[in-house]
Amino acid sequence: MISVEHLIEGRWQSGADHFHVCDPANGGTVTHVPQATQSDVAAAVKTARSVEDSWAFVTAGERATMLHAVADRIAAQLEPLAAATTAEMGRPLASSRDSVRAAVATVRQYAELGPLHRGRSLMGRTDALDLMLHRPRGVVAAITPWNDPVAVACGLLAAAVVTGNVVVHKPSERTPGVGYLLTRCFAEELPEGVISLVNGGPAVGAALAGAAVDVVAHVGATRTGRAIAAACAATGAKALLENGGSDPLIVDSGVDPRWAAEQAAVGAFANAGQICTAVERVYVHEAISDAFVVALLEQAGRLRMGPGTDPTTTLGPLVDVAHRDAVHAQVAASVRAGASVRCGGVAPDGPGAYYPATVLTDCTDQMAVVHEETFGPVAPVMVVRSFAEALSRAGGSPYGLAATVLTPSMGHAQQAVYELPVGTVKINAVFGGAPGGAAQPRRGSGQGFGYGPELLDELTVTKVGHICAPPPTAPDQRS
Ligand code: NAD
Repeated sequence: MISVEHLIEGRWQSGADHFHVCDPANGGTVTHVPQATQSDVAAAVKTARSVEDSWAFVTAGERATMLHAVADRIAAQLEPLAAATTAEMGRPLASSRDSVRAAVATVRQYAELGPLHRGRSLMGRTDALDLMLHRPRGVVAAITPWNDPVAVACGLLAAAVVTGNVVVHKPSERTPGVGYLLTRCFAEELPEGVISLVNGGPAVGAALAGAAVDVVAHVGATRTGRAIAAACAATGAKALLENGGSDPLIVDSGVDPRWAAEQAAVGAFANAGQICTAVERVYVHEAISDAFVVALLEQAGRLRMGPGTDPTTTLGPLVDVAHRDAVHAQVAASVRAGASVRCGGVAPDGPGAYYPATVLTDCTDQMAVVHEETFGPVAPVMVVRSFAEALSRAGGSPYGLAATVLTPSMGHAQQAVYELPVGTVKINAVFGGAPGGAAQPRRGSGQGFGYGPELLDELTVTKVGHICAPPPTAPDQRS
């Protein structure tokens, strides 16, 4: 059992009102959490404000040294952080460990990039110095999700801190134990007040988003992002939003249907579909659709559903029963509207928030399971007559996060990269990509760069300095 505390006014402290988090594999209580009040949130923001100036004038090199020490601490806490991730949100343990390793790498990348975040000099008068320089924005509210709670939070926290901002972190109420262990790693290496932690659900997030902060950086659901954007419009804070998606997978004619099905299965079922860039809908060319569906059913049948602590598990539970019910409601509504369940589609009896890998055919773009984010292990398949039809239907979404195209045609690949209205287009691989890749999501998927070196630009303001020499002093005023 993890007993979580807030970090407010530089002190770890509990509160009066507590809630708990249950293990989605068996329903047992795993974390005991205090719920922050409005005045806790206000105190955390006040503390951050009080150290804003001193932290802003620490050199980037010193901040980077501290961040490397944070990365060392996170690496040393790999097992507790991975175990807490699995206990709180169900992810298979090996995958939770990989996520902590990715987080360590991200913190180190920002430690290296921070001191290299250079401004530029301008071509002005030679008796003056004109330059553009980056300064911290001030107080960053980092409001983070549960589905990859270490890696996602680490990117925001490290980039904010290395650029000289102070942070108030509000982790997801579904993974507060992870948020607590992680924030401790930062707090133990940073000066008092540079990072604070407040715990709680949407109301605490809303209080923080509406407080007198300079940036609200949110990774999470689209509806939350919209509420945060409205709060920021009222306060003048900058909103940086990385939100949901309904990523399409296009399977072109001429590809091996078995390989395409392997790609689709990884994209749709990894982390039980709870990845922002999971495959949420499949458009397969009619020339290979029958063979593709057969192969996808085989892939789904190979998954082993079980607790994340069992090393043979390849499909852990969903984060909680409420989310499992929401996933199933989308599947059930699609069936009522004419979709066929080819496998899965029924929640098993017994404890835990399990949901099987589910393949649906005869789907339409009007079904919520296709046009909304499902965030579960569900692959709705639609058959198309041409690549042009697939491209057009894939692009007709209220989201614009990412898309994958499997094709042997270089022409189709290039067309997809240019034309799909999403941040990231992947050709012939559902996941992967070079380090440092950062895209701006479109439509309901958010705004701004939430990753990569460009996140340093988002978290700083660029100022222009025009520095002239003072005029020569008159002879009678010389001392
Ligand atoms: P969520 O938006 O419900 O919660 C995320 C955080 O926002 C939590 O800390 C929560 O307490 C807080 N929150 C909730 N309501 C709030 C409000 N009204 N005001 C302020 N804060 C509020 O999202 P989630 O369920 O934790 O995460 C899953 C979602 O995150 C999915 O939609 C997924 O696609 C998205 N996600 C996106 C990315 C990306 O990079 N685009 C990465 C990971 C997850």
